[in-house]
Amino acid sequence: MQTLSEAKVCDVLVVGLGPAGATAAYELSRAGISVIALEKDAHPRYKVCGGGLSARIDQILTSEFHSVVEQTIHGVQFTYQGKEPLIIDDDGPIAYMVMRDRFDHLLVQKARDAGTTIYENESVLDCETLVDGVEARTPRGCYRAKVVIGADGANSRVAQRLFTGRRVRRSPALESEVRTDRVSSYPGERRIVVDVGATNCGYAWVFPKKDRLSIGIGDFHGRPSSLKQLFHRFIVHDQALATLDIPPACGHPLPLYDHPDALSTQSLVCGRALLIGDAAHLVDPLFGEGIYYAIRSGQMAADAVLGIFSDQNRSLLDYDAAVRREIYPEFHVATRLAHIIYTFPWLCHRLSSRYQDVIHLYYDVFKGRETYQTFYAKAKGLVTASTKDLLRRAVRFS
Ligand SMILES: Cc1cc2nc3c(=O)[nH]c(=O)nc-3n(C[C@H](O)[C@H](O)[C@H](O)COP(=O)(O)OP(=O)(O)OC[C@H]3O[C@@H](n4cnc5c(N)ncnc54)[C@H](O)[C@@H]3O)c2cc1C
Repeated sequence: MQTLSEAKVCDVLVVGLGPAGATAAYELSRAGISVIALEKDAHPRYKVCGGGLSARIDQILTSEFHSVVEQTIHGVQFTYQGKEPLIIDDDGPIAYMVMRDRFDHLLVQKARDAGTTIYENESVLDCETLVDGVEARTPRGCYRAKVVIGADGANSRVAQRLFTGRRVRRSPALESEVRTDRVSSYPGERRIVVDVGATNCGYAWVFPKKDRLSIGIGDFHGRPSSLKQLFHRFIVHDQALATLDIPPACGHPLPLYDHPDALSTQSLVCGRALLIGDAAHLVDPLFGEGIYYAIRSGQMAADAVLGIFSDQNRSLLDYDAAVRREIYPEFHVATRLAHIIYTFPWLCHRLSSRYQDVIHLYYDVFKGRETYQTFYAKAKGLVTASTKDLLRRAVRFS
């Protein structure tokens, strides 16, 4: 039995070293805070993920991550149940494709170089609040810190133990990776495939990497039972994929941002504990993008923690306030868009060719030139103007 004196002590304990935890650990360590990070696996490790980064990641990450970018994406081939392909290319990068083993390893290495003490193959089993901090236990030992950051993903143990009233939805997603020498010809140079007809509420994707395709599907209404069949149907419907020998898909929950009422009442801070990334359900409800928000929330959490160490008037709740200010308003609009697109997927697919300027405007969200909020306002303007124009022409010819 371990005694209290054997507990390893630090200022901040980070649980989980995906993009969220690695970023928070890096930011805190480079500011001189003593950080211990615990990771249940050992990097580099495989992660079920499409590995698509929207290009605005350039605004929050320094450029060294480009060394692990496998493809730079300039356009999308939209399909509906494998048919009616519509290609819309942009004149610049809208996304980068990475393999998560290499990308996450790079971020973890940055944290290590900045001074984070990392223990791998060490899974946190339990967490407890103390008067002046938090204690976490693993099969190997005990850790005490003034603050704990839960960055342990969709099945967060920190959230289960320290945020007990938290009730949130998780949606199923599946993915398979197939090695192929045809990456550059399918779905086309620098393009991804997005199919909004593959499932009732969600989409299927094909993301090209250097020597393989990541093929996946997510259902945002949370019906896991039929997802394998839908994945199979997507492959069969797509003529190019149907000829490939695609390994069985692996599943992982996607902790999408939930309906505003459910989440906005629940804080991401509880005493000396904060949740970031997937543990905080910071996943875009429209397309399931989570890596950007994992990194951004890691930075925002580090900011709040640095605040309380340097100024006693500041509070960890500053982190919660920052998420409500910067991320939730975006997710509220994304929820509205998801509702429209996944209620009328075929209609939206059909209208995409008519409203290509709206799609280009959406690419500007990927690039960080627009936010969801500015996009929504401008897109409404474009659609209204175009409808008026249609009506005018109809009247002229009647
Ligand atoms: C099929 C699929 C496809 C996706 N595709 C994309 C995409 O293309 N683009 C995108 O932006 N997002 C995508 N996502 C979402 C993205 O994977 C997540 O949002 C992102 O990984 C969140 O990062 P994170 O650091 O919060 O959590 P994670 O990346 O899940 O990292 C959590 C870490 O914590 C560790 N851990 C867990 N429990 C413990 C414990 N008890 N003790 C210690 N360590 C622990 C885990 O081993 C892991 O390393 C996809 C998700 C799925 C399921």
